[in-house]
Amino acid sequence: GSDLASLKTRAVRDGDDYIVNGQKTWTTMAQHADWIFCLVRTDPNAPKRQAGISFLLIDMKTPGVTVRPIKLIDGGYEVNEVWFEDVRVPAENLVGEENAGWGYAKFLLGNERTGVTRVGASKVRLARAKELAAQTRIGDGTLLEDPLFAARLAELENELVALELTQLRVVAGSADGKPNPASSLLKLRGSELQQAATEILMDVAGPDSLPFEAGDIASPSWAGRSAPTYLNYRKVSIYSGSSEVQRTIIASSILGL
Ligand SMILES: Cc1cc2nc3c(=O)[nH]c(=O)nc-3n(C[C@H](O)[C@H](O)[C@H](O)COP(=O)(O)OP(=O)(O)OC[C@H]3O[C@@H](n4cnc5c(N)ncnc54)[C@H](O)[C@@H]3O)c2cc1C
Repeated sequence: GSDLASLKTRAVRDGDDYIVNGQKTWTTMAQHADWIFCLVRTDPNAPKRQAGISFLLIDMKTPGVTVRPIKLIDGGYEVNEVWFEDVRVPAENLVGEENAGWGYAKFLLGNERTGVTRVGASKVRLARAKELAAQTRIGDGTLLEDPLFAARLAELENELVALELTQLRVVAGSADGKPNPASSLLKLRGSELQQAATEILMDVAGPDSLPFEAGDIASPSWAGRSAPTYLNYRKVSIYSGSSEVQRTIIASSILGL
């Protein structure tokens, strides 16, 4: 969650093992995973909450690990609750030093936020919207010739080029292995543009976007998928840290406010 440092899943050392107890909601693709990396509280009395957290690798087949599915608004199954009940984990599965997991996690989150920017996927989606709009007739012309639609598309394409250039700049400046707070900026803008791209595709589909899991009601398959995809993509401004959290990081770490 947003307040990651408040995590409660405990790992208690017992001989050569840790015994893990706790729970994590929203674990993407846990149903397919062989392994999970977990942030666990190893020192509940640490002076700072961040200081008592360790980074542990857990084999998903270990007794005591339970994966419970969560069905999403688009009908899909991609997230889970994962429960840990007296899970015995070899101490050699600790990554780095005990109680130093927060630093490793922060670095990985920076990489994740850069990754989920997904400029490529948004480009593909906008190109598809353009192609389909050129085939959609309105009045005497096509949707693509409509000045308001064309302006909306052009603005999104420009925003995407700007984001791509920013991403290349951030990647080029990250060669020293230090976490770069600019990843929050990429994640925030990337989420907004992914949502805008799924929205424009749904608008191109119009009423054809409505039949979803509706049996024989005919609509082209891309159009039928557009509404569930739009709904599914509400997630992108939540996962990897919500947009509000990214704005706070940008304000404090980049703008120095
Ligand atoms: C589809 C999906 C997949 C996910 N996959 C994974 C995964 O694979 N692994 C994983 O570890 N996690 C995953 N997550 C969890 C995700 O990181 C959290 O949902 C996210 O960080 C928000 O935390 P939360 O759900 O506890 O909401 P909360 O933290 O309770 O936030 C609720 C609302 O309050 C706002 N808020 C909270 N604190 C502040 C603040 N200080 N200032 C301003 N606003 C605030 C948030 O922006 C949000 O709008 C996934 C989530 C989703 C939805």
